[in-house]
Amino acid sequence: MSLNILIVDDSAVVRAMILKTLKMAGIPLGDVQQASDGCEGLDALENHWIDLVFADINMPVMNGEEMIDRIREQPEWEELPIIVVSTEGSATRIERLQRKGASFVHKPFTPESVQEVIKKITGVSHEQTA
Ligand SMILES: [Mg+2]
Repeated sequence: MSLNILIVDDSAVVRAMILKTLKMAGIPLGDVQQASDGCEGLDALENHWIDLVFADINMPVMNGEEMIDRIREQPEWEELPIIVVSTEGSATRIERLQRKGASFVHKPFTPESVQEVIKKITGVSHEQTA
């Protein structure tokens, strides 16, 4: 099973790093959508089948937390796997986002840390190498 993913981050460099890390981690990828703020992220979700969302917190226009709130308001996205990629250090904020069903990968992230959280929340693991 391959994953259609959406990467939402206002930094094109970070989006590229996340994608590169997913490839290095051997995650089977389907379609990859990118968005630079929460509004664009919601648009991408309306228009594409997405299995997994990577979300930044601090973004212009609509931040990651507000985007996650909007996602969870939709019954069809109630259980959509979301991974917040952040340097967020506030335990209160992290707990609040976890209660909304988001998982965390802290920057700097590694292929191993990304593999681990993806396996935990989607059941999809990296492709076996022969
Ligand atoms: Mg940002």
